[in-house]
Amino acid sequence: MIQIPLNLDRLRKDPQHLTGSVSAEDLELDYHDELIHFNEPLTYELTAEWMEDAALVRGTVRLTVDCECARCLKPFQHIISLEGYALHLPFGGEDAVPIEDNCADLTPFLREDSLLDLPQHPLCRSDCPGLEATHPEPSVTDTIPKPGVWSQLDQLKFDKD
Ligand SMILES: [Zn+2]
Repeated sequence: MIQIPLNLDRLRKDPQHLTGSVSAEDLELDYHDELIHFNEPLTYELTAEWMEDAALVRGTVRLTVDCECARCLKPFQHIISLEGYALHLPFGGEDAVPIEDNCADLTPFLREDSLLDLPQHPLCRSDCPGLEATHPEPSVTDTIPKPGVWSQLDQLKFDKD
């Protein structure tokens, strides 16, 4: 089923404005990474123009992705935002785009181009220290009691006397 149809009859007469969204389910994202989850719809604001047996599609494509940090496992959102997106769709020749009911489907192109912008190694922030920071290994400095501990011990002694 065509999710984002571009009608070629209408396109030949006038530039077409395409605005809307496609749910993550309907996008049929075939991407398997346990740190990346698709829950939000893909949204698009596009203008298509007819150009000698091809379409030039330009605009913005956005997709918010739920990620888990590869280092500290904290959940965070990664926003894929393709600003100034441009797509050239030929309707003739070897690379001709499939046409169904006089419509081309933009969905596979937006899907693939969005996936290209996914983080290969999702991090909550580029300098995430990872799990070590929240569960520190005992180190030499940790075995030396801090001044506060000594003064508390002194306090206990005084109480006994
Ligand atoms: Zn992190």
